[in-house]
Amino acid sequence: MKDKSLNPDVRASIVTQLGQSKTVLKDLEARLKTSEHELYAVADKLPNLIDASTPTDGKPKLVRWINEKPTKTIPLSHRDIGEKLNLLDFITAAQVSGGSWYYLLNDGALLEQALIQYAISKARAHGFHMVVPPSIVKQSLVHACGFQPRDQGGEQQVYQLAGPNEGLSLTGTAEIPLAGLGLGRTFEKEALPVKYVGVSRSYRAEAGARGKDTKGLYRVHEFTKVELFVYSTPEQSTQLLEDLLQFQIEMIEELGLTAKVLDMPSNDLGAPAYKKYDIEAWMPGRGDFGEVTSSSNCTDYQSRRLGARFINRAGANQLDFVHTLNGTAVAVPRLIVAILENFYDEATESVAIPEVLRKYMDGKDRIVKC
Ligand code: AMP
Repeated sequence: MKDKSLNPDVRASIVTQLGQSKTVLKDLEARLKTSEHELYAVADKLPNLIDASTPTDGKPKLVRWINEKPTKTIPLSHRDIGEKLNLLDFITAAQVSGGSWYYLLNDGALLEQALIQYAISKARAHGFHMVVPPSIVKQSLVHACGFQPRDQGGEQQVYQLAGPNEGLSLTGTAEIPLAGLGLGRTFEKEALPVKYVGVSRSYRAEAGARGKDTKGLYRVHEFTKVELFVYSTPEQSTQLLEDLLQFQIEMIEELGLTAKVLDMPSNDLGAPAYKKYDIEAWMPGRGDFGEVTSSSNCTDYQSRRLGARFINRAGANQLDFVHTLNGTAVAVPRLIVAILENFYDEATESVAIPEVLRKYMDGKDRIVKC
């Protein structure tokens, strides 16, 4: 309603001022939006904090040995053994798909299934719930997990789909879709930790990879991996990382491999990890140790981007971010490398099958030529 007592000139001046304020407000709102975007973009690039115990001198710290130090030194490579026993075919795979692709044949293929079954059965006995996740996910989820599509020297590391499927990626690890199970989710505090074991094919562009690692199974574009993923409270995650590592140590011990457990340095953690352990097994054909497992505590780095929270109904009903952890149970090709190269017997031209795998391989104790 108009205020009749107001002087018309004063009124006109107020109306003009209001009009100007509206323009200023609009401008300020636009600048705030831009600043928020800029701030978010900078914050998004920040890596996670680092645990105080993490080595900062750039070198992995030896935590312990698994089984005794290696003695076998004059080996055949897994490629020679695999081709000799008709377990692996790289030549046809090169014609069909290209370099760093492979066929697993006969007992080579059965060995993969045995490793998967062994890992799943052990994980389920430790309270992990079984998941078969999708292998194609939205790039926004890849990003939320802390993987950059171009994260090594600017080269493409993630296979991205094109055309009508733009915005989707092939997963490099089941960690990503298992993290997706926490998207926008609120866990009950009492239900934590929630533990998943996922089996999936992993796709790695491995751009820039060269040299001896690209020959054979060590660094390939597609492989099967059994992955462990845990949602926890902040108080639980430090111990849970130790539990994941213990699980991995037991597996490597049971497979009879010689390996070292490493506390990884700050420059090797990637963006999401707060603390990370790797296990490297002895691979005589490489004449070196090779990484077979990795386990990380990502604290709340991924959960903030996923919107994964927990609520404490017994307390103040306050929402807080969960912590996420991940660990390799079995990355199949590298374990096949280690098994063939360590357990091949030249006299009998056969490979001893680790005892824990035999029941998944028709009870046999050796792989011979098929
Ligand atoms: P990551 O998810 O990168 O920590 O890898 C988990 C495990 O997968 C590693 O410890 C390796 O044993 C294995 N791995 C990673 N990249 C490859 C690859 N390109 N080919 C075969 N195995 C791989």
